[in-house]
Amino acid sequence: MAEADNMFRNGLAAAAHPSDILKLSRTLLDICTEVSDGLNSICKVSPVACRSGCDTCCRSLIQVNPIFARLALDYARRTFTPERLEMLHQRLLTDVTFCPFLFDGACSIYDQRPMVCRGYYSFDVALCQSGTFCENDLGYQGDEGHAAHQYRIFLFVLEKRIEDIEREFGIDPGPVFLHEAVRALWDDPQEG
Ligand code: SF4
Ligand code: SF4
Repeated sequence: MAEADNMFRNGLAAAAHPSDILKLSRTLLDICTEVSDGLNSICKVSPVACRSGCDTCCRSLIQVNPIFARLALDYARRTFTPERLEMLHQRLLTDVTFCPFLFDGACSIYDQRPMVCRGYYSFDVALCQSGTFCENDLGYQGDEGHAAHQYRIFLFVLEKRIEDIEREFGIDPGPVFLHEAVRALWDDPQEG
């Protein structure tokens, strides 16, 4: 946590261009992946039901720290086909009711998905499909020794610390709706 804090604070102090913020955000997500892998390797866990291609929790509009909207758009521009990019743009121009990055039942920016998406997990996809997500039922979050639960706490604390550091630097930490933030960034020449 301290490593992530220092990296983010020092990175913001040195940032001179939006691309520097992108690099910082990517590094934060790499740290999240590292912590998740580490916890999974040291904890004996009951299997989490989440799988690539399981999309019930993506069929809603999510709120994120603005830096992850910037990262999502950058990733889409670098990796999507022109057709998919155009489809994303069209979705953003209309009133989508699900996450616009959901394509063919899977997250199209999975490697760079925002922190909030990483904290979602379930032991029973049937409960998700019936609309019972983890925050609705405390018993659903798993026992406190579960790696997924520990990871969720890590993400929660890290996100709060990132927000505090952003405030120190005069940056609005949001949250903002992902689709609205990406739509606002779309025509910004600095994001191209
Ligand atoms: S939280 Fe539920 S819907 Fe989302 S990936 Fe996990 S099992 Fe699937
Ligand atoms: S960014 Fe990806 S994981 Fe997050 S809600 Fe959208 S499709 Fe789902």
